[in-house]
Amino acid sequence: MKITIKVDPDLCIGAASCVTIADDTFALNDENKADVLDHGQAPGGPSYERVVEVTEDEKENIILGAQSCPTLAVSIFNEAGEQIFPEV
Ligand code: SF4
Repeated sequence: MKITIKVDPDLCIGAASCVTIADDTFALNDENKADVLDHGQAPGGPSYERVVEVTEDEKENIILGAQSCPTLAVSIFNEAGEQIFPEV
């Protein structure tokens, strides 16, 4: 399945708990904000938003990473564009 992962750089404080849990998906950039990766890669350059093809296990781990963010800077959407984290 495809999910869209977004980091709000205005909320991100560089706490890096998302990176610790899901280092294939999040990496701190020069501004100490989390960039979104696609399986460790950044095709098209660094971005705070990316559509990524994931397995169910990968999705669950990315959600765990998002849940660990102290400022809720990470949002995740399903293929239909519905927000699946944080729950609305
Ligand atoms: S856990 Fe949240 S605040 Fe910390 S780097 Fe990740 S997105 Fe930013």
